[in-house]
Amino acid sequence: MIRLSKKREMGSMESYRGSVRLIFSGYFLLLAFASISVPRAQGWSKEGHILTCQIAQGLLEAEVVEAVKSLLPEYAEGDLSSLCTWPDQIRHWYKYRWTSPLHFINTPDGACSYVYSRDCHDQNGVKDMCVAGGIQNYTSQLSHYTEGTSESPYNLTEALLFLSHFVGDIHQPMHVGFTSDEGGNTIELRWFRHKSNLHHVWDREIILTALADYYDKDMSLLLQDIVANFTDGIWSDDVSSWKRCNNVQLRTCVNKYAVESIKLACEYGYEGVEAGQTLSDDYFNSRLPIVMKRIAQGGIRLAMILNRVFSDSQRGLALPI
Ligand SMILES: [Zn+2]
Repeated sequence: MIRLSKKREMGSMESYRGSVRLIFSGYFLLLAFASISVPRAQGWSKEGHILTCQIAQGLLEAEVVEAVKSLLPEYAEGDLSSLCTWPDQIRHWYKYRWTSPLHFINTPDGACSYVYSRDCHDQNGVKDMCVAGGIQNYTSQLSHYTEGTSESPYNLTEALLFLSHFVGDIHQPMHVGFTSDEGGNTIELRWFRHKSNLHHVWDREIILTALADYYDKDMSLLLQDIVANFTDGIWSDDVSSWKRCNNVQLRTCVNKYAVESIKLACEYGYEGVEAGQTLSDDYFNSRLPIVMKRIAQGGIRLAMILNRVFSDSQRGLALPI
């Protein structure tokens, strides 16, 4: 069975692009994004993180670009996105196994709500051990950067990589999912013709299908579309509200991102899905815009946090400690 006939493929492509793709008008931004290299290696569930970090990197102030570069290992050549999947690669290593609960939040089944004091803990009830706690913790660690990396009690390179990764994770709706199904991980189903699960559909399948159907498997073209949408497209009026985090605790902003995710998980992730069923065109077409928007929001908000942490002119984000 062909997933999309040529005609239908063009039709859905037109409607998707017609509604969300606009001309890339910001020359400065174009230059900034053009300098981002295409990822060298891709693997399981990497694309969303790479895109989030590429978007963020294109929005960093000049002095922040330098700070980020100084914390990255030399082989990264200043490209944050090349290491944004590192926390997923090491989470099962003995040394880092404790970081595993920092990638997600389990919320009460069916509640469709998130409350930090109720939900941000690991399975043993240890407080702050969730993705929202991780973002706050690593942002606080990075705020010591101005003291000099050699003086800091923290490993600021790791802090930068964890923060950049977790801001991506908290925007993936199924990373703030129900406890009993582990954010959709135990809901086994088919994605078109192959076996998958609901969590993985949101982590990767929707992005891979979009890349194959619309972008000739070229992530830089997908990145261009997402950037065009918030630079001069359907989301351009929303950007200021997405990154607004003024005069409030970072915790308040991070909690807002988690609330958005669980609401999207209920409204679009779990909605109409049962274990064993096959998800295909209808689910893909209706959920792809949500995935693109969450990647954009994650990138814009990561840039906001990094700019505030590292830039003298913008410092002032109230940190949790
Ligand atoms: Zn993760």
